[in-house]
Amino acid sequence: MAALTLALLLVVGGLMGTINLFVDDVLRAGPQRWIYGATMAACVLAAVPLVVRQRVGRWQMFGLVLLGDLIYLVVVFCIDDPVRYATPLMLLFPAFVAAWFLGRWELAVNMVVTTLVCLVALWPSYDDPVALGVQVGVSAGMLNAGALGVFVLRRRVQRLLVATQALSHLDPLTGLFNRRFLVGQAPRMWRQARRDGTRVAAMMLDLDHFKRLNDAHGHAAGDAVLRAVAASLTATVRPTDVLARTGGEEIVVLGLVADPDEAAHLAERLRTAVADSRTADGHAVTASIGIALTRPVEGEDAAEALWRLVDRADAAMYEAKQQGRDRVASLWLPRARAPLPQENTTRQGPAATDVA
Ligand code: GH3
Ligand code: MG
Ligand code: MG
Repeated sequence: MAALTLALLLVVGGLMGTINLFVDDVLRAGPQRWIYGATMAACVLAAVPLVVRQRVGRWQMFGLVLLGDLIYLVVVFCIDDPVRYATPLMLLFPAFVAAWFLGRWELAVNMVVTTLVCLVALWPSYDDPVALGVQVGVSAGMLNAGALGVFVLRRRVQRLLVATQALSHLDPLTGLFNRRFLVGQAPRMWRQARRDGTRVAAMMLDLDHFKRLNDAHGHAAGDAVLRAVAASLTATVRPTDVLARTGGEEIVVLGLVADPDEAAHLAERLRTAVADSRTADGHAVTASIGIALTRPVEGEDAAEALWRLVDRADAAMYEAKQQGRDRVASLWLPRARAPLPQENTTRQGPAATDVA
């Protein structure tokens, strides 16, 4: 986007400048006409690599900004009456490009260059050094103040975007990711599982008798427990796992595993992490965990597959509740048969199996 915008600016600037070649008494006679024409052509040609690569690096951008300043100087040198036909306002383009796209020191360099270019450009038009100083001060001052304003605005917009993005992905109470982020991660996880030949495991954690804890110690104590559990789980999951709070006291862990045993071990570690977590007031809680696995197939919708997987993990979690809570369970769900009874839900090392 930045590359194409810059390319457009260069082409428009070059073509508009070319008009002067056909207007009488604007350009100086002699070689200046040719230098001016070549500069306008260079301006248009500089757009070509931008259009071809559709990308512009920081140094290339800085080079283009300085080229913009240089082009203005050449124009001033070729034009008969610079104050009339080549206003320093032309430097607004490089100044704003530097302010919007570049870092603070490149902007600072360009502010100095802008001031020098204004001085060189206006020098021949003023005999009185004071008048020259005032004009340079006014022109360069306005250009640099405008650029500085754009730079500050851009920094604020960027900070706001980063903060908004973080807020839209995070749960404010626990700092865990939220449901929206979890869904957003599904395509990436499904792609990676297909590429690596691994499976996606969903673990649904639901805190046990949490309502009782709230009723006995108050909502604030419940919130503190949720935060302690979140911190403990964050320290336990693997770096590539996604840990998200999907409901009031429900947390989902999504990760890639080689086989059901790996998922079962991770779930067991999560169960222990919850049971071992304590608030500052010493409140603790346990969790029931349901596991489900799937082997992603080509062409399936990752978000839909994710919710199917989470539903199965939820059903397994319900089994864990039925069996007495504070345990890990998985369901064996062959396509053709109804869910199998009891022996397929286990306490410590569940025979977690996928249907894929
Ligand atoms: P079970 O073992 O069957 O899961 O029992 P439970 O009490 O945890 O289950 P239930 O669904 O009956 O209650 C969940 C409770 O979680 C109800 C609600 O008060 C509490 N809860 C949900 N969100 C929050 C929260 O953000 N903060 C606090 N403190 N409590 C919450
Ligand atoms: Mg619940
Ligand atoms: Mg609960």
